[in-house]
Amino acid sequence: MQKRTIAILGATGSIGTQALDIVSRYPDRFSAVCLTAHRSSEKLFDLVRKFRPRCAALNLEPETLPDDVRFCEWFFGADSSVRALCASGAQDALCAIVGIAGLDAVWAALDVCQRVLLANKEALVTGGTLVMQKAAERNVPLLPVDSEHSAIFQCLQARQGNPVRRLLLTASGGALRDWRREDMYRATVRDVLAHPTWTMGGKITVDCASMVNKGLEIIEAHHLFGMPADRIDVVVHPQSVVHSMIEFEDGAVLAQTGMPDMRGPIGYAMGWPERLPYDARPLDFFALGHLDFLAPDFERFPALKMAIASLKAGGNAPVVLNGANEAAVGAFLREQIPFGHIPEVIGRALESVPRAEIRSIADVYAADAAARSAAENAIRRCT
Ligand code: NAD
Ligand code: MG
Repeated sequence: MQKRTIAILGATGSIGTQALDIVSRYPDRFSAVCLTAHRSSEKLFDLVRKFRPRCAALNLEPETLPDDVRFCEWFFGADSSVRALCASGAQDALCAIVGIAGLDAVWAALDVCQRVLLANKEALVTGGTLVMQKAAERNVPLLPVDSEHSAIFQCLQARQGNPVRRLLLTASGGALRDWRREDMYRATVRDVLAHPTWTMGGKITVDCASMVNKGLEIIEAHHLFGMPADRIDVVVHPQSVVHSMIEFEDGAVLAQTGMPDMRGPIGYAMGWPERLPYDARPLDFFALGHLDFLAPDFERFPALKMAIASLKAGGNAPVVLNGANEAAVGAFLREQIPFGHIPEVIGRALESVPRAEIRSIADVYAADAAARSAAENAIRRCT
């Protein structure tokens, strides 16, 4: 493999820092030429000192820029990630910004990069049809980083042209998997952020506890693999070692398994089609002893049902679901609403925003704005 230049958008986050761990293990294969973040300036300065990119960006301009990070070109402001990406000339982009805020960067990466490595699932949930169309038109591989989608992508390498009957997305069940419904309503931020098997950013950890994350992933899988909603199933699997599965028409099911470590799927996308060893712990079947598989509980996780319904409804519905969820999760993390109110906020937004088609990125942002405004109303009524 030739040395590749890569932009890490959302470099200070959980995915971004783990991607940089892979970069530092393979200095002869990767050069991180662009690093961007929202406002964690000190953390970004440290990464810039270590990885010495050509370009760096922060949405919030810091008061001062230390002398020892001035060697690279800096960009500030709301669209700074996109401007830094374009100026860096990176061959590949790892899109690891959280939320719909990362959609612009994915869109731009499809214009200027040879490969797009996608962690930012909200970009596909909201702009899915348009993003997939653009990737196909420009012939840019969109390599999944989300562990379930990476697992499916890996299993699909054995497809040999055969049709796939079903995708099976595994789910840990999140921090509240075994909680009673009445207790879940008042779960605290601390309860919800205690994820049993993965360490991730705050927003996705809340989404795991509400199982909105699995709903977003069904929509993501629908776009990435062209699979209709009724052929994507969720299997709750508390040990998180079966990362997802595909079922063929003869009933054969292929699974991709391994210890839960995001550097696996991140490294797979970075090195694709080569596998890049890192210090992964081997899967010890004897220590595991057994694996559990359970049906999802749609009563305790109503937002999962809403996400599936939004995909079936089509048009702006998934954008509304996503926007309302982002607003609700923000309010929950600020302790403005109880955890149990998140599905209610999403439900109210889905009811009150009229259905519309999505024909352009501008339509996506219009639906997102309408969803946030409906969600803010529902949040205010709660506080
Ligand atoms: P995080 O909160 O840890 O990091 C987010 C990163 O994006 C940070 O660097 C932050 O500075 C940057 N950022 C946030 N808002 C921004 C904005 N408006 N403009 C530019 N940069 C911005 O999040 P994370 O857990 O790393 O998740 C990133 C994405 O990857 C999410 O879409 C998430 O769903 C997806 N994902 C994460 C994991 C995981 O293990 N963390 C697994 C699968 C998928
Ligand atoms: Mg996932």
